Formats: sequence, structure tokens, C-alpha cells
Amino acid sequence: MLDSAPRVVIVGGRFGGLAAAKALRNTDVRVVLVDRQNHHLFQPLLYQVATSVLSPGQIASPIRNILRRQLNTTVILGEAVGVDLDRRCVFVDSADREGVALNYDYLVLATGASHSYFGHDEFARFAPGLKSLADAVSIRNHVLRAFEQAEAEEDPKRHRDLLTFVLVGAGPTGVEMAGALAILVRATLRAEFRRVDPASARIVLVDMAPRVLGSFAESLSAAAQARLEHLGVEVRLGHAVDLIDADGVIVAGERIASKTVVWTAGVAPSPAGKWLKAPTDRAGRVRVQPDLSVPGHPEIFVIGDTASLDQDGRPLAGVAQVAMQQGRYAGRTIHRRISGKLAQPPFRYFDKGTMAVVGKGFAVLQTGRLRLSGFLAWLAWAAVHLEFLGQSSLRVSVFVQWVWLYVTGQRGSRLIVNHQGPLRHDSPSIVFHEPS
Ligand SMILES: Cc1cc2nc3c(=O)[nH]c(=O)nc-3n(C[C@H](O)[C@H](O)[C@H](O)COP(=O)(O)OP(=O)(O)OC[C@H]3O[C@@H](n4cnc5c(N)ncnc54)[C@H](O)[C@@H]3O)c2cc1C
Repeated sequence: MLDSAPRVVIVGGRFGGLAAAKALRNTDVRVVLVDRQNHHLFQPLLYQVATSVLSPGQIASPIRNILRRQLNTTVILGEAVGVDLDRRCVFVDSADREGVALNYDYLVLATGASHSYFGHDEFARFAPGLKSLADAVSIRNHVLRAFEQAEAEEDPKRHRDLLTFVLVGAGPTGVEMAGALAILVRATLRAEFRRVDPASARIVLVDMAPRVLGSFAESLSAAAQARLEHLGVEVRLGHAVDLIDADGVIVAGERIASKTVVWTAGVAPSPAGKWLKAPTDRAGRVRVQPDLSVPGHPEIFVIGDTASLDQDGRPLAGVAQVAMQQGRYAGRTIHRRISGKLAQPPFRYFDKGTMAVVGKGFAVLQTGRLRLSGFLAWLAWAAVHLEFLGQSSLRVSVFVQWVWLYVTGQRGSRLIVNHQGPLRHDSPSIVFHEPS
């Protein structure tokens, strides 16, 4: 690769960024992909790490390993902290250097989203969200530790708080997590404790919306709610959480005492809009042109959860398929410009459908006019998720684990891993309230 070849800097190496990089595989460019994590993470299965079904290594792979055969691409572990539009460079902090300028001819920002606590950032301390592997492992540690503490606790009055799990947000993540937790406590852990009955654990799913899975058809929301209730999950809808503190949550004036609250509600965009001083939507996502470029900057593309684009009068959802299709589109646009070819037609998202799984052997699926719930939908869910895992080794390992879980009820990864000593919590970024 010639040093004079145009340089494409991609920030973010998950669904959007990776798809953009792969689309430039055969283009005469130097690609530099920057991510603050060294791994690509399959977020749709993150809840399975948090509930001990899978281990972190089964849903994530090193980005440089995925791109090892793509010789025009260099992977840098670092955090982008700003963009100089005039000098055309991105500033990157790494382990031992700050503000290193990376020049670009084309820039693709695919920096995703983070948690939004709807103006209540004070909740974050008591109700961590689920976005990264560290979040998932920390939640797993906390859930498993709650059972250990309850077993060691001689005062039965304290068992109730320890074994009450509250999930705030009844979108796909909250619903999937609640279903998986219900199976964990009622099936896997059931026979292993002597002083407490894990099956008596209370799982409460709270949302201010009138139904679970609000982005799905009403019939599927109803099916998912019925399934959750069948699994013993308490579904509390129509009220926002008023307060989250060390003792639990207050919903509609009622306190639910709990030592484990997980936030699965809002998302906040990355600061890319601020770096670019570009127009954003109300949620802070960068408003992009129909070709995914930033107004006034045809050399900069913003894609995936960081971008805001309407299609048929409605904003595109923050889902993996949108990010992947936009990544491919941005990569192809850069390829065509460099090769002197005509521009592509405006980006158009092809919706392949959405799914959510609710416990064992049950999912809801909607695609086009098809609405399906039950075992068949679950089989489709399993097949699609295996296909999108990305690497054959992960597919085999997750498939075997799922079959094992289905047949025996036993989970793959029920270890409490402490990185700071036997009785300390492991992730400094997530502060769960310690049961006192
Ligand atoms: C728990 C959970 C479950 C989900 N389940 C589903 C599902 O079932 N189906 C579905 O379609 N979608 C699902 N989603 C949504 C889906 O994961 C996102 O829409 C998708 O990941 C967006 O891809 P992206 O590439 O835009 O951003 P992301 O996947 O968020 O990737 C952003 C990348 O940018 C990196 N990054 C961020 N800021 C910086 C920076 N400053 N410098 C360097 N690197 C940076 C991050 O480390 C990350 O690797 C789920 C999301 C979550 C959190």
C-alpha cells in the first residue's frame, strides 16, 4: 500500500465501524480503525453473559484478529477525544499518550451510544446499565453474589431485599434479561442452596410505557408480557421510576426494596455531534445527509447509533442491522469516490425484522407482515444470532452451550470473578450498592 493512498480513519469497531472497514477491503486506501476497546462485541447476547449463560469470550473477538487478513487496515487501541475539521484530523488518547493527531482524507464515526438516565444521572451509581462486557460481568458477579450473601445471612428478613432484582426498562434488553434471570433462579440455581429458595427470588420489570417491547406489534407485546408473567416476572407498567437509591427503587410512590437494580432504559449518543459542531436531533444524534455524510463535510460520515436519519418520515432505530448496512454504505461511497465512479443512490435501510427472546424456547418475531411468537420464533432467533456472531469458532461454542443449557439447564459461566480481591467488587466503573 502506497503511503500516498488516501487515509480513511474509522472510529468505532463494532457493527457500524467494522462493516465500513470490511467494505474497504479491496480499495486502494489506508484504513486506520480506532476503538477504545480491543474487541468487537456482539451486544445482542450481552444479557446472556450477565445471566451466566455465556462467558465473555463467547460473544466478543479482538478487532485486529477479525481484520487480520485485511492488509490495508491498521487497528489502534485508543479513545478519540475530538476532531479538527480544518486540519482534518482526529485526536486520540492512548495508554501513554494524549491528543495524538490522526490525519484523515475520509472520516467515519461509528462511536455508538451510552446510557441515558433521563436527567437523573444520580441513578447511575445504584443502577448500572448493560452496554459493555465489563458491565455484563459486573452484573453477573452481583447477581450471583446476592444469592451467596442470602445463603450466608441468618436473618431471613434480609433475604427478600437480597433476592429482589429490579430491571428498569421493558425494551428488548430488559425483557430478555428478565426472562433469563427468571430461568436462572427457577431452574439452574434451584437445587443448590439450602437456607434460601432461589425460586422465591422476585424479579420486577418496570417501565413508564404502557406495554413491554413498545417497538413491536401490540399482539407480540402482549405475548411477551404473558410469557414473562408465566415465568414469575412482575411487570409494572405505566409509571416511571421516581427514585433509585441504596435501598431499591420507588415506583408510583411504592418502595421496592432491592439490592440489585439494573438500568436497561434510555440511550445517550456519543459526543460526536459536539466534536463536529454538527446539527443533532433532540436525542443528540448527528443529523446526517441521505448519503450519511455530515452537512458541509462530504468527507465525514456518521453511522449507526451515533447518527440520526429519517426514512419514510420516521427516524431509523438504533439497531445492529442499521449500523451494519450504514457501515457498508459509507465504505462503498468512499470506494466509489476514490475509484471515480458515480455516487450511489441515497441510503435506504432494508428492515429484515426484529426479535426478542423471552426465557427458554420462546421468542417474538416480526418481519414485514409476519408476527410470530413461541418456539418457532425462538428457533429463528437462535439461527439468526448464531449467523451474526461473526466468527465460526464463536458460533460453534455458543451453539454447543445453548444445546447444553436447553437439555440440562446448566449454564456456562457462573463464576464470581473478583479482580480486586475476594470480597471486593470488580469494576471500578460500576458501583453497585453493597448489601450492608
Ligand atoms: C444490551 C444490548 C442489547 C442489544 N440487542 C440488540 C438486538 O438484539 N438486536 C439489534 O439489532 N440491536 C441490539 N442492540 C443495539 C445494537 O447493539 C446497536 O444498535 C449497535 O451496536 C450499534 O452499532 P454501532 O456500531 O453504531 O455502535 P456500537 O456497537 O455501540 O459500537 C461503538 C464502538 O465505538 C467505540 N467507541 C465509542 N466511543 C469511542 C471513542 N471516543 N473512541 C474510540 N472508540 C469509541 C466503542 O468502544 C464501540 O466499540 C442492543 C444493544 C444493547 C446495549
